Amino acid sequence: MAAYDSPLYIYSRAEIEANWLEFDQAFGDHPHLICYAVKANSNIAVLNVLAKMGSGFDIVSIGELQRVIAAGGNPTKCVFSGVAKTSSEIQQALEIGIYCFNVESAGELNRIESVASAMSVQAPISIRVNPDVDAKTHPYISTGLKENKFGVDVEVSKALYHKAQQSDSLNVCGMDCHIGSQITEVSPFIDALDKVLALISELSAEGVDIKHLDLGGGIGIAYDDEQTIDIASYIQEALAKAGDLKILLEPGRAIVGNAGIFVTQVEYLKQSDKKSFAIIDGAMNDLLRPALYSAYHKAVVVEQNPNGVTDAWDLVGPVCETGDFLAKNRTLTLAQGDYVALMSAGAYGFSMSSNYNTRPRVAEVMVSGETHTLVRKRESIESLFENEYTLND
Ligand SMILES: *Cc1c(COP(=O)(O)O)cnc(C)c1O
Repeated sequence: MAAYDSPLYIYSRAEIEANWLEFDQAFGDHPHLICYAVKANSNIAVLNVLAKMGSGFDIVSIGELQRVIAAGGNPTKCVFSGVAKTSSEIQQALEIGIYCFNVESAGELNRIESVASAMSVQAPISIRVNPDVDAKTHPYISTGLKENKFGVDVEVSKALYHKAQQSDSLNVCGMDCHIGSQITEVSPFIDALDKVLALISELSAEGVDIKHLDLGGGIGIAYDDEQTIDIASYIQEALAKAGDLKILLEPGRAIVGNAGIFVTQVEYLKQSDKKSFAIIDGAMNDLLRPALYSAYHKAVVVEQNPNGVTDAWDLVGPVCETGDFLAKNRTLTLAQGDYVALMSAGAYGFSMSSNYNTRPRVAEVMVSGETHTLVRKRESIESLFENEYTLND
């Protein structure tokens, strides 16, 4: 810790590799592509570890595609998701050459067609179908119900597939669905799978040939001791139903979530008869999940201090918001200066961090075997306003 200063994200290469292999090995020799969802943790070293294993990537912006390429990833193993792809992003992705666009609306299909046509190329496409299943997760991270902005419903998708089939500028390659995140039961995935398989056979009878099925990501992890999905049996069940279809998955959290921790230091202990606060140097701008979704991260004291005070502590940061907490009501023995690790912080941790309150984004370190390496240096204060200008008068 002393070498890198606090607060800090630390990732385990071995854990990232083991998590990715668990997916890959469950497929055996069935045709498949695991497209790690870059938005979960887009550090170049994380992407590089996965690229070396042969991973594909799920990207949601041209910036993420550039990161994948900078990290040594293969763009032809990238699927491009996201509801708001711009013409320029579509053009760049076609120039670079990606695996497939996951199309989220009729307007987007038209736009991809006209950009591809102007470039005299064929764009590989897959329609993101919204299977209207309840993922039974937090409403902010549920995406598979009719009322949300992602994908198109089954009827609309049929019309889009027929249109795409007719177009010289579009190449129908797959079907895609992603129903939400942090899903801890397998049944919503199987419900979605049954619905999209029925749609694929219907389309096939009408002459539209779908070559791959992308089941998205969303596999939940244990933040505490909750039960989660058995990945191998989920994949076995999917393969048993999917016949010869090539299967894609887009796991993000399940690969990096439990491979990262966020370490923060206690600045002050502040007790009153109502509440006991441990004021720490990490904040909601560094790890937003507790403030955003009331998410739970286990808090572990790195080295127990003999002079520590045992109490039910709220771990709160320096940011001027009441929502600025990383953990609430945790029975811990703490002293000023102690380091506390917030566990399972590898996914949607650093990647959602910001400079709110003019706080530099923290450093990131990766542990690999006996070595540890700085994989992103702490931002300097000066860099936070280097792109800003004062008026001339
Ligand atoms: C966010 C997202 C993922 C990854 O979700 P996880 O819950 O991290 O597995 C995959 N696909 C799409 C389209 C997404 O938006």
